[in-house]
Amino acid sequence: MTKRRYNFNPGPAALPLEVLEEAQEQFVDFQETGISLLEMSHRSRTIEDLNQETQQLLLSLLGLPNGYEVLFMGGGASTQFALLPLNFLNTNQTANYVLTGSFSEKAYKEASYVGLTHIAASSKDQQWRSIPELSADQLAPDSAYTHITMNNTIEGSRYNKIPEVGSTPLVADMTSEILSRKLDLERFSMIYAGAQKNLGPAGVTVAIIREDWLEKASKTIPEIMRYETFAKNKSLFNTPPVHAIYMMHLVLKWVVNKGGVEQLEELNRIKSALIYDVIDHSEGFYKGIIEVNNRSHMNITWRMANEGIERQFIEESEANGFEGLAGHRSVGGLRASAYNAVPLEACQALADFMVDFARRNG
Ligand SMILES: *Cc1c(COP(=O)(O)O)cnc(C)c1O
Repeated sequence: MTKRRYNFNPGPAALPLEVLEEAQEQFVDFQETGISLLEMSHRSRTIEDLNQETQQLLLSLLGLPNGYEVLFMGGGASTQFALLPLNFLNTNQTANYVLTGSFSEKAYKEASYVGLTHIAASSKDQQWRSIPELSADQLAPDSAYTHITMNNTIEGSRYNKIPEVGSTPLVADMTSEILSRKLDLERFSMIYAGAQKNLGPAGVTVAIIREDWLEKASKTIPEIMRYETFAKNKSLFNTPPVHAIYMMHLVLKWVVNKGGVEQLEELNRIKSALIYDVIDHSEGFYKGIIEVNNRSHMNITWRMANEGIERQFIEESEANGFEGLAGHRSVGGLRASAYNAVPLEACQALADFMVDFARRNG
């Protein structure tokens, strides 16, 4: 077998090796049907069952009861930035957005094309170093919803708890942290996530919407853009990204085998602490960027005191088997994305490499 690298890619990101191997084994002849999943009708019983099972498994892993629709859509999380206001931002109402990083800004911008928007809070002035406080009195009166980005992939920050928004429907982009920690998701009217960080490969996007809120969605936009269309048809209105859904199914079963979200949360805490500890004990060689309380356990970001050696750090890390440690092109610096599928050993190896690099270059 080829040696696997320590994969800290921000997305598409690491998948569990067991999942890749199982998919490989099933690739040509899916469950002894004599054809590949890629060649199978999405109207077949096999795909219908797979679709249903995957929706149920996701709800149960997230701890959500009945009363929610799980939709499998295309277009990535970025398409949700537009579909959310198209479905739920009626004329005369205002949508609240909390700006905590560049993906939240993109979501806000798309909504601005659709209707009235209000920036309820922002940490842009602090270069996104923290998550701003939010309370119900910062929201527009009679607002359609409040949108937050639960984990900021590029900046490396996260909400440490779900904010209070009174009676406004709360919507969260959970792309880079879904299934990574236990949260009371019943507080949300809708959550969504592109799959390619914690759920599977690129190609499928999950939207989970409370049924009573879904009833309020627009009935005048084109059908293909309506959440209702996907809900009514169990995400089989048109051809879904079948193989991506299958891969997600395997990832979800892997999460079950790992002991579910609670176990992964604990593991993620340990994994991220290994790297944050090196940063905090490096006597300023490495500098954390995000306020300690809001540090992400998925995307760990830092800079070098001497920015001139960041490139050298990246090159040496690559030569030593690490992948994906450069910060996002818009912010620079370094970032290790330690999603659910990144093993503890990879984080330990990175921590060791960082200590060694600091010793040699400090
Ligand atoms: C990656 C990411 C996106 C963009 O996802 P696409 O699937 O590329 O559209 C949006 N929001 C967050 C929080 C992300 O991490």
